[in-house]
Amino acid sequence: MESIVILGGGEAGFTIARTLQTTLRGKAKITLVDQRSHMVYQPFLAEVASGSIEPRHIEVPYHRHLRNCEIVCAKVEGISAAKHEVYLVNLDGVAWTLPYDRLVVTLGAVTKTFPTPGIADYAIGLKSVEEAVHIRNKIIMNFNRASSMYRDNPNRKRLLTFVVVGGGFSGMECFAEMRSLATQLLRDYPAIDDSELEFHLVEASDHIMPEIPRARSERVIAELECRGAHVHLSTFVNSAEGGVVKTSDGSEYPTELIVWTAGSLANPVLKNSDLPLDGRGRLRCRRDLRVEGDDGIVPDVWGAGDCCNVPDASGDGLPDGTCAPTAQHAMRQAKLLCANLSAALDGRRLYEYYHANAGMVAGLGAGLGVFTNGSKSHGANGLLAWIAHRGYHGLALPTVERKARVYGDWLRSGIFGTDTATTSEFAHPRAFFTRYAARPAPKPADAAATHDDKEPEQKSA
Ligand SMILES: Cc1cc2nc3c(=O)[nH]c(=O)nc-3n(C[C@H](O)[C@H](O)[C@H](O)COP(=O)(O)OP(=O)(O)OC[C@H]3O[C@@H](n4cnc5c(N)ncnc54)[C@H](O)[C@@H]3O)c2cc1C
Repeated sequence: MESIVILGGGEAGFTIARTLQTTLRGKAKITLVDQRSHMVYQPFLAEVASGSIEPRHIEVPYHRHLRNCEIVCAKVEGISAAKHEVYLVNLDGVAWTLPYDRLVVTLGAVTKTFPTPGIADYAIGLKSVEEAVHIRNKIIMNFNRASSMYRDNPNRKRLLTFVVVGGGFSGMECFAEMRSLATQLLRDYPAIDDSELEFHLVEASDHIMPEIPRARSERVIAELECRGAHVHLSTFVNSAEGGVVKTSDGSEYPTELIVWTAGSLANPVLKNSDLPLDGRGRLRCRRDLRVEGDDGIVPDVWGAGDCCNVPDASGDGLPDGTCAPTAQHAMRQAKLLCANLSAALDGRRLYEYYHANAGMVAGLGAGLGVFTNGSKSHGANGLLAWIAHRGYHGLALPTVERKARVYGDWLRSGIFGTDTATTSEFAHPRAFFTRYAARPAPKPADAAATHDDKEPEQKSA
């Protein structure tokens, strides 16, 4: 049997594994390699950050939904297309080599930052469930802490100031959902007044969400202003040292939460390979999704999704003529890749990728959203767009089981309001136990050296 190895089980890789486990059953052995045990549906991360969706419910477990695939939980460290080998390290640090007959590269992208002082130390991104959960916990805990401080305490203002950098779709969704959570929290914390909250979004260009018509994006800004959330266009973050965001217009925002969503970068692990990459580190793909270098097609290697440079024949792509890094493209490329890979195995003709933009839809907090169709001739702001956002992404989330869980979350939030319970203590699960745990009495010789009541975890940290 052919051995097909898929690297990365995100939007593209998961779709491919799920399709091939059925279409190539008995013909090929399908192996999925990912550093996690589940696929993450990233378009819902902002709603996890606001608490209207439970974090686990946007994770699709591989072992339940890919029963006819071999799942390898490991980090990809390198690829040799010449040797038909992939280099892996598992969660216990054991390295090994996995050979393949056909390779599918769907390793996605990472958050792109610039060497702005303080950002690496104080900011957080929004590419993973952990980050989304942290953002939510941080907002709730900041309310908790601020509510027990006097109003003139400068730390109270710092705790109630929140900054998002980057006005693309993910940044705007996150910003609006954060504000939505804060509105819910104001009801639970009467000691905090709405006028004390500061929400700032900093965007370097002169408009937000470039994929939608300017008039619609201006309406989004106006709606956010009405909710007390400020968007600063044509403004750069100069530094964030000590958690104080200093911007190019001379403003300073001391804060404990800076969310950085200003760009993404093809997975840097691709540089540890002999595969052809473009100037932005993306895997060079043909329109039939085979990988191609200067010397022609790289035998048996295919690519799809955010880590790939796939030409966008619709003419509606990025300025360089390639597909934008969206779930819309990742999922459709995945479907074509499955069809072409099967065709290649049978010696049939391959098809080329063509997808006319189906439009964009974003959720901007409870009851608000923005939507535009592919040709940008029609669209909506407000409640209608919010319903479209939930309708579209609710259906796009893989598997009926996960869909049902997310619809259940929305129903519960609709009835009882967004859940404002925090899970911040989950990061230190042994703290309570170790504080009271009985330990053997120290031996006399070691007594002086071990006279320290800190728990072992804290010492090593
Ligand atoms: C906050 C946010 C909101 C978004 N909203 C939208 C939206 O509304 N509409 C839309 O169309 N798109 C949206 N997107 C973009 C969309 O989610 C991505 O385009 C899509 O997920 C790309 O799919 P992918 O399979 O290429 O990569 P990913 O889904 O990122 O998958 C990559 C996989 O590779 C794995 N991986 C990475 N490195 C390694 C390694 N070294 N070893 C092993 N495994 C590895 C990862 O664990 C992951 O499972 C959003 C993205 C974000 C972050």
